Amino acid sequence: MNIKLQGHAGIRPNNIYCIGRNYADHAKELNNPVPAEPVIFLKTNASLRGLNEQAPLAYADESFHHEAEIVLLINKPIPLGSKVDYAAVAGLGLGLDLTRRNKQNELKKAGLPWTLAKSFDGAALVSEFLPLAKFQDPKHLEFTLTINGERRQTGDSRAMIFSIPVILNFVLSFHSLQPGDLIYTGTPAGVAEFKAGDKFVLEWTKEKLPFAGKL
Ligand code: ZN
Repeated sequence: MNIKLQGHAGIRPNNIYCIGRNYADHAKELNNPVPAEPVIFLKTNASLRGLNEQAPLAYADESFHHEAEIVLLINKPIPLGSKVDYAAVAGLGLGLDLTRRNKQNELKKAGLPWTLAKSFDGAALVSEFLPLAKFQDPKHLEFTLTINGERRQTGDSRAMIFSIPVILNFVLSFHSLQPGDLIYTGTPAGVAEFKAGDKFVLEWTKEKLPFAGKL
């Protein structure tokens, strides 16, 4: 799929970076320590799926965990080692980092990479992106996830352990950023079961901008 940024032609997806354990309440619910530096993992861009896209979903007979997250879109080259701020972000989206939690726990226990738990077709659901100017305050973003009419997750970017600029500068310490790169910024508490066919709404709460979808 192409990435949608309001006011732009479709953008080709490039790399997908994900931050783990970026909200203390979520680290706690999974009995993970609060990290001293960002925990980073990757999804391939074949994982990407629009919220209503009728695209194949790998492991569709499994039950996943949903992780509702703020997603950053980069749409210009930013050299390795740059120091940037919010202005580096071309658009903000809401996404679901789909996780095969049982598989991840197996892999974690064996000390193996998480790839098969985190990267597969359909594992990176993402809304349309909106430019920063659409938000009341990019330093204080609020969002919710509702599944089948039930509120599951509520997020406030002020509760992030690593803020958006800290995340950007951390990634830039080991990689340049490219147009079409996405960064999933971690999930607050409330992760739970999510199955093919479930209907959900991701919403920017303060701006009252909901995005509905179906897994
Ligand atoms: Zn996540």
